[in-house]
Amino acid sequence: MSLKLTKQRQEILDLIRNSSGHMTADQIHSVLKEQNVKIGIATVYRNLNVLYEEHLINRVRHPELGYIYDKNIHDHYHFRCVECDRIQDVSIEYQDRLHKVVEDELNAKVFSHDINFEGICSECLKKNK
Ligand SMILES: [Zn+2]
Ligand SMILES: [Zn+2]
Repeated sequence: MSLKLTKQRQEILDLIRNSSGHMTADQIHSVLKEQNVKIGIATVYRNLNVLYEEHLINRVRHPELGYIYDKNIHDHYHFRCVECDRIQDVSIEYQDRLHKVVEDELNAKVFSHDINFEGICSECLKKNK
C-alpha cells in the first residue's frame, strides 16, 4: 500500500492529530477555511475516506452528526456529552469476547462493535451547579 499523502491529505491528518481527538468533516472543513486552505467539503470527505482506509485515522458513527473522525486508531469506546456534544475516549477494555457471543447466536462473523455512552460531561456538570 503506497502512502504518498497529498498535501491536503497531510494537512487534514495533522489537523486531526493536533486536535483533542474527535472532529466531524464540517469542523475540519471550517478550520481549514480559517487557515485559508481552499478546499471543498467533498474533497474533505474524499480525503477522510482515504485516511480511514489507510488506517491513519479512525471513525465513529454518531446518530446526529454522521461520522466523527478520530485520531485514536485503536479499538475503543466513547462517551458523548448530550449538552456540549463533546466526545471523549473511554478506556475500558475492548470487549472482544462479545464477538464470539454474537457469532454463536447468529452463526455470523463479527468484525467490530461499538459502544457509545451518553450523559453529561464533568465540565457541564460543573456549569450546571
Ligand atoms: Zn459537556
Ligand atoms: Zn476516540
